Amino acid sequence: MDYQNRPQRQLFDCTELNLTCTECGTAIKELPFEPTKRDDGTYGRIYCQECNRARRKDFGGNRGGFGGGGGQRGRY
Ligand SMILES: [Zn+2]
Repeated sequence: MDYQNRPQRQLFDCTELNLTCTECGTAIKELPFEPTKRDDGTYGRIYCQECNRARRKDFGGNRGGFGGGGGQRGRY
């Protein structure tokens, strides 16, 4: 409801985890979420900001999810 009041996004400092982007291999120093270690000792797939953005764009692409303007199912 209060979109305008959303809290500042917290970035987790993960420099000491030596994470690299799954996609491009860039070293990741900050994440918008806290990385959690899995059973296999990795942090799963983690992407740098740029790849994350690119991926999100892909996801939101033709689904008409975010302000899609598809209009196939009406307004809502
Ligand atoms: Zn990347």
